[in-house]
Amino acid sequence: AYLPMDLKSLIRDIPDFPKPGIVFRDITPLLRHPEGLRYTVDLLAQTCKQAGLTPDYVVGIESRGFIFGPPLAYQLGAGFIPVRKPGKLPSAVHTIEYELEYGMDCLEVHQDAFDSGCRILIADDLIATGGTAAATAKLVQKIGCELVGFSFIIELRDLQGRQKLPDAPIVTLVEY
Ligand code: IMP
Repeated sequence: AYLPMDLKSLIRDIPDFPKPGIVFRDITPLLRHPEGLRYTVDLLAQTCKQAGLTPDYVVGIESRGFIFGPPLAYQLGAGFIPVRKPGKLPSAVHTIEYELEYGMDCLEVHQDAFDSGCRILIADDLIATGGTAAATAKLVQKIGCELVGFSFIIELRDLQGRQKLPDAPIVTLVEY
């Protein structure tokens, strides 16, 4: 147990990135801060445990879901499954398609990563429109896994991403 930390003070706003008009929430100052990093991972894990989330696997979305997903899985006693950009995974994949503002994008996950009926927690650094997490959730449910919940460091409330997600607990630490 330690004193609560102001995580927002470790998240930097970058205006007009990656496009004009978008404010990018940059977590790299939080990552390089020793106590900030530990506090964030511990708080995520503790909040998941308190919410009764006991996954067999944490499914992390490339790229920043690869930063928090594995230490979260470690603390929850779970394994980690990467959801990757197309063409990166070496074995047979399921394709996860999702909508962007203009057009579609896709992600991939190994077909043999999931045992039947396994319990899945989906992790990413941030939920914006919710499109990425919702598409990942849909695949997890389609292949017969149990979706136990979602975990994000940051939620961009105005974009109402949580409304796109199926009914499952959502753990978030910081809201804008
Ligand atoms: P969504 O599908 O619209 O919810 O977008 C979420 C995805 O975009 C996540 O994988 C985030 O890492 C990334 N993302 C969107 N906006 C930001 C931001 O401001 N900072 C960091 N990542 C972002």
